Amino acid sequence: MQPVQDPHPTEASARHRVVVIGSGFGGLFATRALKRADVDVTLIARTTSHLFQPLLYQVATGILSEGEIAPATRELLRRQRNATTVLGDVTDIDLKARTVTSDSLGRTAVTSYDTLIVSAGAGQSYFGNDQFARYAPGMKDIDDALELRGLILGSFEQAELAALRGDRQGAARLMSFVVVGAGPTGVEMAGQIAELSRRTLKADFRRIDPTMSQITLLDAAPQVLPAFGERLGEIAQRRLRKMGVQVQLGAKVVDIDATGIEVEDVAGEQKGYRRRIEAVAKVWAAGVQASPLGGILARQSGAEVDRSGRIKVNPDLTLPGHPEVFVLGDMIALDNLPGVAQVAIQGGKFAAKQIKHRLAGRPTDPAFHYFDKGSMATVSRFSAVASVGRLRFGGFIAWLLWLVIHLFYLIGFKSRITTLLHWLISFLGRGRAERVITEQQVFAREAIERLGAAHQPHLP
Ligand SMILES: Cc1cc2nc3c(=O)[nH]c(=O)nc-3n(C[C@H](O)[C@H](O)[C@H](O)COP(=O)(O)OP(=O)(O)OC[C@H]3O[C@@H](n4cnc5c(N)ncnc54)[C@H](O)[C@@H]3O)c2cc1C
Repeated sequence: MQPVQDPHPTEASARHRVVVIGSGFGGLFATRALKRADVDVTLIARTTSHLFQPLLYQVATGILSEGEIAPATRELLRRQRNATTVLGDVTDIDLKARTVTSDSLGRTAVTSYDTLIVSAGAGQSYFGNDQFARYAPGMKDIDDALELRGLILGSFEQAELAALRGDRQGAARLMSFVVVGAGPTGVEMAGQIAELSRRTLKADFRRIDPTMSQITLLDAAPQVLPAFGERLGEIAQRRLRKMGVQVQLGAKVVDIDATGIEVEDVAGEQKGYRRRIEAVAKVWAAGVQASPLGGILARQSGAEVDRSGRIKVNPDLTLPGHPEVFVLGDMIALDNLPGVAQVAIQGGKFAAKQIKHRLAGRPTDPAFHYFDKGSMATVSRFSAVASVGRLRFGGFIAWLLWLVIHLFYLIGFKSRITTLLHWLISFLGRGRAERVITEQQVFAREAIERLGAAHQPHLP
């Protein structure tokens, strides 16, 4: 099959061609920062939207719709005349030929670049136990969030049916939720499942009592939110306990199946003790693995990758031996920078600045300096923890700060207005506006996996 035409072929364009891989934080902010540069930018991404990952858990628990946290990239860039958006899954990068190969529905496109910016993010890591994914979906994209929404809300429906049949044990298993990983995503997810069951669904069923749901948050680490320090970890843990979440620390997951999860204690008197938690709905919020595109870059350039697949880049975010290639965000291993949005955003702006300086013949910055604006995690409505500079605080003020910052960074005026409206419904009232679930949300991934190589969607 003939590859699709390069959107900015050399003959047609005398301008410098920048190809950006990924429409997440790094890719989008790099592209936007090149708005006034004398370059042609081609942004290639496997989705048509820019995903605001920090609010995925609110899509999974019915507070927000997917459109609110994932506006169309094409719309976001419609006024940027020098930017072209191309839908495609990047399958190869040729550093020698300076081309990027992408695929969309069986059609291949080869795009040439003068400068390449790679910001393809990270996926979920099951620490070598990929079979766990079948029973404990992770939360990295819209598909994951909708699958989890279907799984969580569907479990209550199935529990009601089980109770109707007189199967009390089955109902209890369906009303048992386990979240693996006590980092920000796990804490937020456990807190939201607790609020969903204790507040939103409280009076909606006739045979089950959703407030009796068992919610367990597991982690092999000795504390909740380790990156936030001991005090904030304790604040978050206390709040979770108050909401009825069972926090089990020093507990490593050793096996997962359709109806439960096997856990081994890794510390304390019970060390080595194995036990089982009966639960149909499990959420995996532990571990990340950088995009496999990092491996492709490393093999060709000789750059090192760490255990999480992140590339050891030069201090100026370029690939060793390839000053024309910048790598950003969750894909880089540099100075222990965390995998957070600001690292990708600031990295994107930095890369764009270097490109502009190079083209203008001005000196470039030898190193990227990350400015840590702080981090925060919500536990429940009206309760969050925040770490800003030397300040560490938790409670309502932290939650208000979280609210304002997330509204500020959420992209698009429309999204901000509807998000605020949905937050009013959920935080001041008991409701959740996005409770639609479908069979396809829950079972599509399994069906696609079963099809295996036979699943080759393509245009006729
Ligand atoms: C559930 C969750 C909650 C989070 N909460 C917070 C938070 O509260 N605060 C915070 O600072 N950070 C948070 N993060 C982390 C933050 O979202 C990431 O650090 C940030 O998104 C990294 O930006 P990036 O550009 O490197 O990657 P991403 O934003 O992940 O973007 C990657 C892009 O590359 C595309 N892509 C991937 N592979 C390919 C391919 N082969 N071909 C084409 N396109 C490809 C993807 O579709 C996507 O558009 C959270 C992450 C998750 C998953």
